[in-house]
Amino acid sequence: MTAAQTRPNLLDLDLTGCEALVVGLGFKAFHGRNLFKWIHKHGVLDFDAMTDLPKSLRSALRERTVVQLPRIVQDQPSADGTLKWVMELWDGQRIETVFIPDGRRTTLCVSSQVGCVLACAFCATARQGFNRNLSAGEIIGQVWQATRQIGSPPTNVVMMGMGEPLANFEAVVKAMETMQDDLAYMLSKQRVTLSTSGVVPNIYRLREVSDVSLAVSLHAPNDALRDQLVPINRKYPLAELVPACRDYVADDKRRKVTWEYVMLDGVNDSLAHAKQLIRLLEGVPSKLNLIPFNPFPGSNFVTSPPERIESFRQRLMRSGIFAMTRKTRGDEIAAACGQLVGRVEDRTRRLDRALVERGRMVASC
Ligand code: SAH
Repeated sequence: MTAAQTRPNLLDLDLTGCEALVVGLGFKAFHGRNLFKWIHKHGVLDFDAMTDLPKSLRSALRERTVVQLPRIVQDQPSADGTLKWVMELWDGQRIETVFIPDGRRTTLCVSSQVGCVLACAFCATARQGFNRNLSAGEIIGQVWQATRQIGSPPTNVVMMGMGEPLANFEAVVKAMETMQDDLAYMLSKQRVTLSTSGVVPNIYRLREVSDVSLAVSLHAPNDALRDQLVPINRKYPLAELVPACRDYVADDKRRKVTWEYVMLDGVNDSLAHAKQLIRLLEGVPSKLNLIPFNPFPGSNFVTSPPERIESFRQRLMRSGIFAMTRKTRGDEIAAACGQLVGRVEDRTRRLDRALVERGRMVASC
């Protein structure tokens, strides 16, 4: 381990952490606030340019801390405006971050882990295995980089990149706090969304410490089918998942759970499935996001035809559940949902090479 790695990374600290660090160095807490603001609001990492910090604090920071950012190693624009960045971490691991502009709304899709343990049947990230959690600095570092690349902070952040955010709880919560901080990216609770496959105990924990919007990868209206598609269901079945989500939004009448539902031809897309879904979500303030399946090499599923997706959607709408079909963005650069695959390990490198040979770049969401 190098000396640099034994020093704290300033990117790992939220506002409270920055204040505590500066106080620990013998300075006033408000200098910690200024330091935090320089880093996140102004994007300044050079201590010499932080002119309102005492010179002695600046040299202490230089000697005792590091600022370690994920490094952008690839920048892939798509014809529809979507941009995918491949970022390399200090240990050579690679992750992907996707920027999706849509009029005045700009959404950043952020990764929380290198790879994923969940093994959802229809997701490319699952194929690459799991390597490690990202640190808070590696999560907020994606937002820092994107903000500098674009010239302004994204209007929305979705924790929907590689990995299961609730399996990396502390780092994700800390990074989301910085996203929401007025001295940093100023995103309101409606504009930060965490998507989970359903780690039920951590949905309850999240409610205690955060108020971000909740999206849940449902994908099936009954346990038999969900056990197959989203294997974590075997541990936390629908009878536990649905009440946990209902509780998450219970305190605020305007809030809804967003349920993500990937449309798989002949698997989960019949009107009978729609009816089961309506019964399952009775009494839960809900909206449905129907996601046309994004194929990737070696995937065994086919996306439902548009007419079937539309009748499924209409059936939900008739029962009073607001449902929309998610536009597929960035699929030509493999940046759409479930297509992200950063480089994790040798096995994945082989997969990367195979995909590149087929004329496509690879990432992981
Ligand atoms: N681990 C988190 C974040 C995952 S990615 C979660 O499970 O919620 C965001 C969404 O894309 C999830 O709903 C995921 O199930 C979905 N997804 C994964 N692979 C997909 C694919 N190939 N096509 C469409 N959506 C996919």
